Amino acid sequence: MTAAIEIDGLAKRYGAIEALGGVSVNVERGEVFGLIGPDGAGKSTLFRVLVTLLLPDGGRAAVEGLDVVKEYKKIRSRVGYMPGRFSLYPDLTVEENLRLFATLFRVTVEENYALVRGIYGQLEPFRHRRAAALSGGMKQKLALSCALIHRPSVLFLDEPTTGVDPVSREELWEMLRDLKRQGITILVSTPYMNEARLCDRVALMQSGRFLDVATPREIVERHGRTTWAARGEHMSRLLLDLRANPAVERCFAFGDRHHVTPRAGASMPRLREEMEALGHRQVEIRETLPGIEDCFIQIVGQQKQEA
Ligand code: ADP
Repeated sequence: MTAAIEIDGLAKRYGAIEALGGVSVNVERGEVFGLIGPDGAGKSTLFRVLVTLLLPDGGRAAVEGLDVVKEYKKIRSRVGYMPGRFSLYPDLTVEENLRLFATLFRVTVEENYALVRGIYGQLEPFRHRRAAALSGGMKQKLALSCALIHRPSVLFLDEPTTGVDPVSREELWEMLRDLKRQGITILVSTPYMNEARLCDRVALMQSGRFLDVATPREIVERHGRTTWAARGEHMSRLLLDLRANPAVERCFAFGDRHHVTPRAGASMPRLREEMEALGHRQVEIRETLPGIEDCFIQIVGQQKQEA
């Protein structure tokens, strides 16, 4: 059986900007596949090519075995797409939005209601409210319901959790797992690296290229280095002093700690002493497990060194 999504050397330029520099991957049926990368990495461009809204300049891609250029009409009825910016009609009510999307795809809300019940059910009390008046989290749930109402086999979600509160984010990922159980293939993008662990596989993306494609666990196994978490009274000064220390290969701010990649032979107590000698107080350094963000920074840093 063919993969749900096949991407082979896909390229796209906007004038001088290379938004996709020849990316390749196969997404298997029923996978939750994450595109993880910062703003401008090329995630939206890849989505727009796959849902047939943008023509590629090179390479090829197919969704459910259908070519994105030659068979775009067939693809459109099989996929659900939730763009990064809200796709809803702000002046229509919640219910009118859902009915409109159903009509566009020549289905009825009633025939496919079971698929969206878990998501749309939470919005039913507000079904007469205009979409413009919904909270960010509720808008996302409505947009997801609209993207699903024609029962697509492949779902494309471009940054569904950006600008959404943490509780709604978790709920959204829970919904995606539920859709996966129903056999739907999901390609989802996010700038939040900690969401990578919720995907079956991820592509780490930067400047139109895939840095690596693997399961979240494999990414950490391949690229994870010894990582120390450091804290002190003056965090911004500590960051600069850690970076300047010869025992430190790399250091970046991570939540309320700094993550340090030590060089071979570095000693944790010695680094703490050296920070204290520079006037830092209450310095705490301990070993921590590297995450996807550490790996991302590691790979990008390595590439810069090699370039
Ligand atoms: P992401 O979704 O990861 O933020 P995009 O695919 O939106 O990335 O953008 C990739 C690159 O292409 C960025 O440098 C962006 O500025 C550029 N870009 C995106 N859309 C256009 C456009 N319509 N015209 C010109 N440049 C664009």
